[in-house]
Amino acid sequence: MKRGNQGRILLLLLIALAIAAFFVFDLGAYLTLANLKARQAGLAAYVGANPVAAVAAFFLFYVAVTALSLPGAAILTLAAGAIFGLWEGTLIVSFASTIGASLAFLSSRYLLRDWVKARFGGRIDAIDRGIARDGAFYLLTLRLIPAFPFFLVNLAMGVTAMRLLTFALVSQAGMLLGTAVYVNAGTQLAGIESTSDIFSPALIGSFVLLGLFPLLAKALVGAWKRRLVYRRWRRPRRFDRNLIVIGAGAGGLVTALIGATVRAKVTLIEKGEMGGDCLNTGCVPSKALIRSARSAHEIRTAAAYGIAPAEPEVRFAEMIERIHRIIAEIAPADSVERYTGLGVDVRKGHARLVDPWTVEIDGGERLTSRAIVIAAGGEPAVPPIPGLAESGYLTSDTMWEKLRGRETLPERIAIIGGGPIGTEMAQAFARLGARVTQIEHGPRLLPREDEEASALVETILREEGVEILTGHEAVRVEGKALVVRAEAAERQIPFDEIIVAVGRKARLTGYGLEALGIETGRTIVTNDWLETVYPNIYAVGDVAGPYQFTHFAAHQAWFAAVNGLFGQLKRFRADYRILPWVTFTDPEVAHVGHNEQSAKEAGLAYEVVRYDLSHLDRALAEGANRGFVKLLVMPGKDRLLGATIVADRAGELIAELVLAMKHGLGLNKLLGTIHAYPTLAEANKYAAGEWKKAHKPERLLGWVERYHRWRRG
Ligand SMILES: Cc1cc2nc3c(=O)[nH]c(=O)nc-3n(C[C@H](O)[C@H](O)[C@H](O)COP(=O)(O)OP(=O)(O)OC[C@H]3O[C@@H](n4cnc5c(N)ncnc54)[C@H](O)[C@@H]3O)c2cc1C
Repeated sequence: MKRGNQGRILLLLLIALAIAAFFVFDLGAYLTLANLKARQAGLAAYVGANPVAAVAAFFLFYVAVTALSLPGAAILTLAAGAIFGLWEGTLIVSFASTIGASLAFLSSRYLLRDWVKARFGGRIDAIDRGIARDGAFYLLTLRLIPAFPFFLVNLAMGVTAMRLLTFALVSQAGMLLGTAVYVNAGTQLAGIESTSDIFSPALIGSFVLLGLFPLLAKALVGAWKRRLVYRRWRRPRRFDRNLIVIGAGAGGLVTALIGATVRAKVTLIEKGEMGGDCLNTGCVPSKALIRSARSAHEIRTAAAYGIAPAEPEVRFAEMIERIHRIIAEIAPADSVERYTGLGVDVRKGHARLVDPWTVEIDGGERLTSRAIVIAAGGEPAVPPIPGLAESGYLTSDTMWEKLRGRETLPERIAIIGGGPIGTEMAQAFARLGARVTQIEHGPRLLPREDEEASALVETILREEGVEILTGHEAVRVEGKALVVRAEAAERQIPFDEIIVAVGRKARLTGYGLEALGIETGRTIVTNDWLETVYPNIYAVGDVAGPYQFTHFAAHQAWFAAVNGLFGQLKRFRADYRILPWVTFTDPEVAHVGHNEQSAKEAGLAYEVVRYDLSHLDRALAEGANRGFVKLLVMPGKDRLLGATIVADRAGELIAELVLAMKHGLGLNKLLGTIHAYPTLAEANKYAAGEWKKAHKPERLLGWVERYHRWRRG
């Protein structure tokens, strides 16, 4: 048995024993109003003779009763008034009840939090976020209203992530008034016939009002703060638009589309190419490049399939042209014409925020709108490496145009960055025949992925000829050589092209954020509803973060559009709990929910189920049997906490698991679903089968075996 569990069982036993003793010895019989009245004179005499011992004994008893969540705290509080008087009684009870409540809170945390986290996973994360934001207000309300049983409040708060100090301070402050009322009543003990005499309906009403005060005050302060940010601006009396969207990438296009679909008057402003990063310089060209590289790889490795291999002749210029052709084929879907046809007023030009409701286009026309959505995207981050600026380096923004002029593949390519973009490029260019060196300062490629996934990708890339230098820092560029350093040793890497892929930064300057005082960090700061400091200005996509994916930008767009247009009626909190993403290496790495590292960081209990593709018929037939499906499952349940798939077409395979997670379908359901044979998707079902095997009902099967034996006679 684990040590943590032993400790928990011991504590549970102690608590159970103490509670049992309370009831077995009928201690509750002493904690009645009648008993208190009968003993009042004796108790007062004892206190007079032994003041210190009396206070200490009372204090400890009070702490024990509240810490063990036993009934009787109300009578004890009256007793404090009766025997110690108003001021001393209030002081003693205030501290004793706070300490007792804090002990109950800590016990609940120690005994229950891990279990609750493991069982309710994402939901408890959401509650924790709410507690971090507003927990003190809620607790104060609960404490001020004596109608809520305090022992339940202690236990419930213990399973959340509330800090002990916050809990103790807010509890003490919140309980003080109620304590004083009770203690004061205790000083008039003779006139009380039952504890309900203390609280008349009018007094309870006042307490409820008092309890609601923190929430009311919070709402008022919120409303006031919202008004305050607008103070220095003059609000237009009428608006030209319902919605103005800045940027026509994935985030902006979807926002505008939703606005137009619900018949709002929408203007979409784009200064560059419609479609933004994904279509023009990101997902689309990179995936087209990867496809060409795959063909080259298949020619080179054809011997594995009984076909004469060859060194592929890469027609570089044609390949780059194909990439541009594919962009052009997709472009009509994101075009001005299409969006105009859908009812969006599309403007080409540079948008600048003039005030919280006004956007200026190219320094000329100004349009006002009730809501504005910023979807200005991001751009490649370029580290300040001496000599880099003069090296003519490429980024995902520039490479597709710069490479357009080349007839041949660059022979030697240095790629700085081991994230998804750098890793996809490294494999693709190596497969096309370049000598690729990839530099990553961290200990591994794809640091956000499951460790096993990044290790397998790294192995495969090395086998395909990529030189991977993890734990290396790019320190300077000298002519046509990149100097890298690991520990104290430097090394020169000659290159024909350098690709910088160290991540993307949000676009935060040049369009009025500073003048309006819109708060920014690495991205525009937004709240759960995607509002900036101005509640009518929203931000989505790469400019808002925290993720940088096309489908993420599109997902946020729904919330921004709906909150912007209908927020007065109902606002929706953006929810990214079940967000898949894919790195398009070969094999692909697909991810949803938690992997082992993130589950550990979140303190979640999980079981790992792993199915290796080396056993899968279709993967064997395809020669694509290196990879796995790894599931993180809630202990004691068949619900998924997350999944990582490393496989050919892993991006397609993960969709089934995303659906399962989103709609709470467990592994039993997955196992009961027919999967066509022979498909790669069967891997998901077999992974569920591995989980089932590990949870066989052994005892029942023992009985079934006996039954069969008996049947055989
Ligand atoms: C190489 C690469 C590969 C990628 N692969 C994938 C992938 O496979 N899958 C995936 O999900 N994601 C991928 N991404 C990420 C994805 O491209 C982005 O997350 C997504 O495009 C973000 O969309 P967005 O709307 O936030 O921003 P963007 O697409 O960048 O759009 C912002 C738009 O706003 C415009 N704009 C900015 N300021 C103004 C202004 N003041 N006035 C007018 N217009 C303005 C810009 O011109 C731009 O068109 C990849 C990215 C790169 C670089």
